[in-house]
Amino acid sequence: MTILQDILSYNEEFVANKEYEAYQRGKVPNKRLLILACMDTRLVELLPKAMNVRNGDVKILKTAGALVSHPFGSIMRSILVGVYELGIDEICVVGHHDCGMAGIQVDKTLQKMKDRGITEEKLDTLQYSGIDFEEFLEGFDDVEESVKHSVSTVNNHPLLPTDVPVHGLVINPDTGKLDLVVDGYKAE
Ligand SMILES: [Zn+2]
Repeated sequence: MTILQDILSYNEEFVANKEYEAYQRGKVPNKRLLILACMDTRLVELLPKAMNVRNGDVKILKTAGALVSHPFGSIMRSILVGVYELGIDEICVVGHHDCGMAGIQVDKTLQKMKDRGITEEKLDTLQYSGIDFEEFLEGFDDVEESVKHSVSTVNNHPLLPTDVPVHGLVINPDTGKLDLVVDGYKAE
């Protein structure tokens, strides 16, 4: 059975057994909080448990490395829509130790693309038309610095109201322990 078939047949039973009833909540988050976290597999269940958030409590955005790579990209747009339209009053950026985006080597990633059939010609064309792969695929060396940078991008965004605290945290993907990097209540 493929993963897709597996999902669809499980889903049929999930709905038929009304298992969704345990998760039904309103659209506005109870805690009025938005969490931007990394998409790491170890955090799927651990992060909400470790932060004591459940269905209906928060909005969770996930990206590789919890990075906000562009101030006018889709992540920042989601944050702003959350604040202006969906009841968000506070934001947490949560990076983690042992992140796959730490120390990404762009030349190696480009080589993997070539190995998977992306032609040199296509890569050249993209470069000529202004795509900077170093910038596009850039990771980070230090997770705390990276979280501070993401916090600063969100916090200093010209369209974010100044009364929305933006916190920065780093989670241990094995134990769920959170370390505070930026206390948004104390930020200027
Ligand atoms: Zn990660």
